[in-house]
Amino acid sequence: MGKGISIALDGPAGSGKSTIARAVALKFNYIYIDTGAMYRAVTLKALQNKIPMDNGEALTQLANQTLIRLKYIESEGFSQLRVIMDGADVSDAIRSLEVTNSVSLVSAVAGVRVALVKLQRDMAQEGGVVMDGRDIGTVVLPDAELKIFLTASVKERSKRRWLELKAKGIEVDPDELEEQIRKRDEFDSNREVNPLRQADDAILLDTTALSIEEVTDRIIELAVARGGEL
Ligand code: C5P
Repeated sequence: MGKGISIALDGPAGSGKSTIARAVALKFNYIYIDTGAMYRAVTLKALQNKIPMDNGEALTQLANQTLIRLKYIESEGFSQLRVIMDGADVSDAIRSLEVTNSVSLVSAVAGVRVALVKLQRDMAQEGGVVMDGRDIGTVVLPDAELKIFLTASVKERSKRRWLELKAKGIEVDPDELEEQIRKRDEFDSNREVNPLRQADDAILLDTTALSIEEVTDRIIELAVARGGEL
């Protein structure tokens, strides 16, 4: 018997996926797998190694040579997810503006996706996971018991990102941020390989007017109905 059901959470940037995925995972005592962090880690390494973002072959090779591990540490009563790349903790470095601006180019490379999708499936093979990303319901875990597609207006999503950055002491121009999010979504939705798309059997949740708690509670309810045990 497996350790629990698999929950796939997809959606555009800033739709609340990671916060909600984390909260749902905590509730069921499941593993949270942040697949965006993996694409970000490969992007960081590409930048560090000065690999041109249009060199798909070199990026694929890099993805195959990179060791990515998600580690959970207990800190002040919370379980914190740390991203370990080739032995180094890159959790903060992968959130830089430079990485954010290049990650869509790296994640559009077919070979990079093959390498990371394999890793993601391996991590999820025993069940009991909440995985968030862009292609989880469509490609990575097509048999997930529960698939959710989260969305929100681009205004609301950029407002959330802005607040998140501000809380970290980073001030950015709100209009520029909105434009950046819009561009990233457009790129992620229109790429040829595994684009951002709602799976046919995914449940669409528009979170524009909902709080994190409301969305989390709704997903927990759905997960219980699909066999998740609290
Ligand atoms: O979720 P996050 O915003 O950290 O994702 C960063 C980028 O990684 C996305 O904009 C997308 O280009 C890529 N990504 C992807 N497939 C996933 C998760 C993320 O292509 N499953």
